[in-house]
Amino acid sequence: MRFLVTSLLVLFFSCQGVCQKPKVAQEGTVFESLRKKMVQEQIIARGVRDPEVLRAMLKVERHKFVPPEEENSAYEDRALPIGHHQTISQPYVVAAMTEALEVQRGMKVLEIGTGSGYQAAILAEMGATVFSIEIVKELADEARERLKRLGYDNVTVIHGDGYKGLKEEAPFDRIIVTAAPPDVPQALVDQLKVGGIMVLPVGEIVQDLIVIKKKDTGIERNYLFPVRFVPMVRSKD
Ligand code: SAH
Repeated sequence: MRFLVTSLLVLFFSCQGVCQKPKVAQEGTVFESLRKKMVQEQIIARGVRDPEVLRAMLKVERHKFVPPEEENSAYEDRALPIGHHQTISQPYVVAAMTEALEVQRGMKVLEIGTGSGYQAAILAEMGATVFSIEIVKELADEARERLKRLGYDNVTVIHGDGYKGLKEEAPFDRIIVTAAPPDVPQALVDQLKVGGIMVLPVGEIVQDLIVIKKKDTGIERNYLFPVRFVPMVRSKD
C-alpha cells in the first residue's frame, strides 16, 4: 500500500514537470483539433465543398471571436451569444453563405452586421477586401480592435446603419448581410456591381436565405434554406 502511494506521488510530481506543456500551446492544439472536427462534421458533412471556404474555416480561430465564458463552446454546432443581445452565427451557416457568395481574391466585399468580426475574418482570409458595417458601437469597436490584433489588415469596420450601405466605397463585387431585414434593402442592390452576388436572410423570425445575382437584364433570386438571424434594425435618424 505504502509502495503504491509513493509510486503514485512520484508519478504525480514528475508529471507536473514533464507532462505540463506551456498552457497556450496546449490550448492551441486542442482548439485546432476541435476546428478540424467542426469542418469535417458540420460543414463538409452538410455539403460545403469550396476548398477556399474550407481552408478559411480551418484557419480562423473562432474561439478568439467569442467572450471568454463561451470559448469552450466556440466549435459547437450553434450560434453563440456575443453580448448586446447579438450572436456569432452557427459555423455551418457562415460556411454555406460564404460558399454561395463565390468570393475570389481581390474582390471588394461589403458585410452588414459585423458582430464579432468572425465572418469578416473568413472573407479576409479568402483574400477579399472587406468593409463591414455594425450598428452597435461597442460591438463595432470591439470587432475592429480584435481584427487588428489578429492581423486582419484588409477589413475596415464602420459603425453605422447597414440599410444605407456604404456609398463612398460602392459598387461592391459581393454583399453579405448577416442580420435579417424584412425585405431586400434597395440601397444594397443599388450598390452591388452588375455581375455581383448578394447573400442575405429575408423575413421575420424564421427567414429565407436568399442569393441575389445582379445581371444586366435584371435580378435573379434563388432560395437556399431557412435560417434564424437577429433582425436588421433601423437607426433612429
Ligand atoms: N457576422 C457576425 C454575426 C452577425 S449578428 C459575426 O460573424 O459574428 C448580426 C449583427 O448585425 C449584430 O451585431 C447587430 O448589431 C447587427 N445589425 C443589426 N442591424 C443592423 C444594421 N441596420 N446595420 C448594421 N448592423 C446591424
